[in-house]
Amino acid sequence: MKDIVIIGGGMAGAAAAAVYGRSYDVTLIDPHEYYPPVFAADKIAGDQLRILMSLGLFDALAAASTPSTRVINAQHGHIIERKVIDEYGIRYQTQVETVRALIPTRVERVVGHATDLELGEEKQRIRLSNGSDVEARLIVLATGFSDVLRAKAGIKRKLLKANHSLSFGFDIASPDGKYAFPSLTYYGDRISDAVDYINMFWIGDIMRANLFVYREPDDKWVREFRTDPQASVYGVMPGLRRFLPSFAVTGPIQVRTVDLYTVEDHIRPGIVLIGDASQTPCPALGMGLSHTLTDVARLETYLAGWLSTPGMSAEKIGQFYADPVKNNVDAIAMHGAHYRRATSTQAGWRWDLHRGQVYWRRRLRGFVQRVNPFDPANAAPVAAS
Ligand SMILES: Cc1cc2nc3c(=O)[nH]c(=O)nc-3n(C[C@H](O)[C@H](O)[C@H](O)COP(=O)(O)OP(=O)(O)OC[C@H]3O[C@@H](n4cnc5c(N)ncnc54)[C@H](O)[C@@H]3O)c2cc1C
Repeated sequence: MKDIVIIGGGMAGAAAAAVYGRSYDVTLIDPHEYYPPVFAADKIAGDQLRILMSLGLFDALAAASTPSTRVINAQHGHIIERKVIDEYGIRYQTQVETVRALIPTRVERVVGHATDLELGEEKQRIRLSNGSDVEARLIVLATGFSDVLRAKAGIKRKLLKANHSLSFGFDIASPDGKYAFPSLTYYGDRISDAVDYINMFWIGDIMRANLFVYREPDDKWVREFRTDPQASVYGVMPGLRRFLPSFAVTGPIQVRTVDLYTVEDHIRPGIVLIGDASQTPCPALGMGLSHTLTDVARLETYLAGWLSTPGMSAEKIGQFYADPVKNNVDAIAMHGAHYRRATSTQAGWRWDLHRGQVYWRRRLRGFVQRVNPFDPANAAPVAAS
């Protein structure tokens, strides 16, 4: 019997296998030998870097990424602020494959679907698509948005907002290959357009664009976007032309809609949920990897205690779900998801006032920054102003 069976080899499962496989007897199950070119996090940034370092995964990911050190934030055709940042552009597929390459060879890899689960206080049984079974003391369920195994384990998906946000990912090229920014975040100009922002950043020698909106998947504008992305983008963000007068889309347009959910009845013996299996983050907030990697890191702190004593009771599992660091990150991610949608779409004088305050506070900070010759952000070679 294995110590741990991890089901799902996306970022959550791959990172868990890489880290837990150093100390425990682990099996990783995923249907894809190589992770497919799915559109998800296209960069790593912020607190994610620190967590990746603590897990010993950062160096390999940094080596496979394109660092960004400066960004221009803009709206209404004006620069709001220039910022010094520490971000790494890397397609999700490359992220997952890079982390999978760090999985110790002693970890057993199964290419296939897990189709059923039998949970118990002592032993868990996982049925595979080829009809065989794997047994383990603990199941780590890292199956992302998929509801099948969660439901088989009796865990309910608690839907908070269907079609919460819609994300577009595509590669672009300016006509002369030049850009008036190192990387750019341009925010929606009008709330009636329900656009949060478009972010443009380098992955290798490709300029990648991620656009986040709060529209239904069958919305007219969404349909038009697929046929004429340039006109659709400039239609809702006319001021963007000042920074990027024209562009071509050079690859497929990837579109993903995200429901906002958490889970209920999840404290059960023998199984623990990590990453998107336990809660969706809104892609626009950019905290999905923070919550995923926090889950991996916090769960690791409980494993030695759980595996060195008999049984895998609900009481043990409950310790992970009560972890204050995990709960804090999950709560910030959920609050942020609601806030970003509200601030991009809500009408009324209170929201107008709030948006105005945020905008002018940032522009003032940006102005002070620009007249300060010692601010490192001023070193950015940018043509637009
Ligand atoms: C469009 C988009 C943009 C995003 N942008 C950002 C961003 O900029 N920054 C950020 O921090 N986060 C972002 N996120 C969130 C981030 O990508 C996710 O939080 C993270 O990828 C979750 O990883 P995961 O491993 O939980 O899920 P996944 O990567 O979905 O992995 C789930 C895995 O489980 C496998 N699986 C499913 N069912 C079974 C089964 N029955 N048996 C075996 N295997 C199974 C699947 O094949 C898959 O490999 C974004 C998300 C989206 C959708």
